[in-house]
Amino acid sequence: MTTTVASTHPTLVLRDDLDQERQQLYLESRCLAIDTETMGLKTRRDRLCLVQMCNENGVITLVQIRNMPAPRLQTVLESERVEKIAHFARFDMAAIRHWLGMDLRPVFCTKIASRLTRTFTDRHGLKDLAAELLGVEMNKEQQSSDWAAERLTDKQIAYASADVIHLVALKERLEWLLEREGRLELARACMGFLRHRAALDLAGWEEEDIFAHH
Ligand code: MN
Repeated sequence: MTTTVASTHPTLVLRDDLDQERQQLYLESRCLAIDTETMGLKTRRDRLCLVQMCNENGVITLVQIRNMPAPRLQTVLESERVEKIAHFARFDMAAIRHWLGMDLRPVFCTKIASRLTRTFTDRHGLKDLAAELLGVEMNKEQQSSDWAAERLTDKQIAYASADVIHLVALKERLEWLLEREGRLELARACMGFLRHRAALDLAGWEEEDIFAHH
């Protein structure tokens, strides 16, 4: 199976906030794939450097975060009528909450959808999903690079764009699988709880499973 989900639009890199044109475009979009790049994996220690966005037409914007506030970005990220799609949204939601003071909502998490449907495997990485569900090979080479750099390299821009370009197609495929397995309602409930899961992470329960018996 081969599916080409390449964007025909060049990626736009902006500083600190969306411009008016992109804000308007995204507010009128059906859905918006979201990813973030940070200085590392510890949300409170490692600052948010980049927010990547891609709508259903493949229009990609990268916003480099240095100075606050970002009022245009906020209207988009918090717009109830534009569904956000993220892979392991829990991490992005906590980073966006902690570093930007914004809520990402409403959210579809492709990792949760994968865990609830692809029970025959424990491979739920974005690269695994893209390969299996879309027939797309993803290059993870720039994953650990300096995202706080003043000027991002062409490789970083390509990598950051690739992380959001496949999410809309993946969501459609995973939603179909959730429906097939009768787990759409359960998935929606889990995704609805995600903002509270991110709040628990920030409040000190990131390791502890409060649902566990022990
Ligand atoms: Mn990423």
